[in-house]
Amino acid sequence: MTQDTIAAIATALGEGGISVIRVSGPQAIESVGGVLKSKQPLPEAATHTVTYGHIVDPASGETIEEVLVTVMKGPRSFTAEDVVEIGAHGGLIAVRKVLELVLRQPGVRVAEPGEFTKRAFLNGRIDLAQAEAVIDLIRSKSDRSYTVALKQAEGTLSKRIHALRHSLIELLAHIEVNIDYPEHDVEEMTSRYIQESCGAALDSIRKLLQTAAEGKILREGITTAIVGRPNVGKSSLLNALVQESKAIVTDIPGTTRDVIEEYVTLSGIPLRLLDTAGIRETTDVVERIGVERSRSAVAEAELLLLVLSHSEPLHEDERELLGKLRGRQVIVVVNKTDLPERLDLSEVRDALPESRIVPMSVLQEQGLDDLERAIRELFFEGQLESADLTYVSNARHISLLHRAADALRDAVDATDAGIPIDMVQLDVRAAWELLGEIVGDTAADSLIDQIFSQFCLGK
Ligand code: GDP
Ligand code: ZN
Repeated sequence: MTQDTIAAIATALGEGGISVIRVSGPQAIESVGGVLKSKQPLPEAATHTVTYGHIVDPASGETIEEVLVTVMKGPRSFTAEDVVEIGAHGGLIAVRKVLELVLRQPGVRVAEPGEFTKRAFLNGRIDLAQAEAVIDLIRSKSDRSYTVALKQAEGTLSKRIHALRHSLIELLAHIEVNIDYPEHDVEEMTSRYIQESCGAALDSIRKLLQTAAEGKILREGITTAIVGRPNVGKSSLLNALVQESKAIVTDIPGTTRDVIEEYVTLSGIPLRLLDTAGIRETTDVVERIGVERSRSAVAEAELLLLVLSHSEPLHEDERELLGKLRGRQVIVVVNKTDLPERLDLSEVRDALPESRIVPMSVLQEQGLDDLERAIRELFFEGQLESADLTYVSNARHISLLHRAADALRDAVDATDAGIPIDMVQLDVRAAWELLGEIVGDTAADSLIDQIFSQFCLGK
């Protein structure tokens, strides 16, 4: 099935301590062996062992790099093909030179972005949902979303989908038998069986979809805007959040640096703070970005942190803001509690009866824990810790699950209405196919190409 051998630098480009060149395909061992000088020739190395040696230009005899080469013979490798990984510790130029030499070997070409993972998929090592999780892993912005993606990469979601599809196949087989032997008793039993099976499948899908909202939050972060009048402490709060944050700062080649957002993670919940580019230079976001920009941030935000000052009476602008925020997810931060009280909160409570109010003194570092808790409760109702981690977080999966559920509901309705079961069978079959698209069993080539094109080079 696989043809040529592919090679690419698998680690992020830059001044890192070590770089890895990954080679996969039938020529992997031979091609690297052709440029490696080592005590034991590479083709004689046992699988999953490391060989020490030097990369030597066969044309000039020049030594390019000191390397450690790992051989993983298929199918026990990431792509299920023969894989060789060259660990080099030198700078970028040496690493490029090594790659160039390998690419000059017969049958080797440079890998497209995502091609290693695509081969793993095509060779049946992972399914499509797992491949997508690999993308999520590369991009994950917090420990928590990393865990979710990792679970998915390990196939937790896939297992559930396969179980669902298995139950539908059994149902389809049962219907098939019934179509061939249409006796009245059997038909009645089959109707009941259809309803039970579809009901159970619908139940599982509903549970999976329940986790979708949480999954999306964990993957993409809660889009958050900090709003309020000048001088209430917005920038101070932002800085405190950034300091508190335990975010993994990912260094993904290819992502732009000038995004106007900042990620912070509060006890595992990633917040995507809007329009915070340059925060560290100006320390004054909201004023800097101007009224227009902050308006669009307010419109886009899923969560609004409205900052008021404990030591000022409510201002006309704030009344107006309160009106605009009605019906939105708002947490009111009453800052500067270290100063004398001049704010009457009753008006705030009347305007936003649903919102939590968190007293805080950013200056004295008080109340940040309460804010974290409020955010947590708002989005997860305190269930995050015990939650099952089989999150459905991918928009494609969510939409397919919804469509599969629709098809199953149609099947149940049709059975209720006494519609002939060969018609019902079509709905069940549709559900089975839609679920198959999640794991890639029934996905079109164009979709598969599109998914893998999202990868960065060397993955
Ligand atoms: P912004 O204009 O809303 O961004 O407000 P800033 O964060 O720039 O803060 C305005 C002023 O309030 C600064 O002098 C801060 O040091 C001060 N400030 C911020 N938080 C507190 C607080 O909790 N207590 C007191 N007393 N002052 C604070
Ligand atoms: Zn400010």
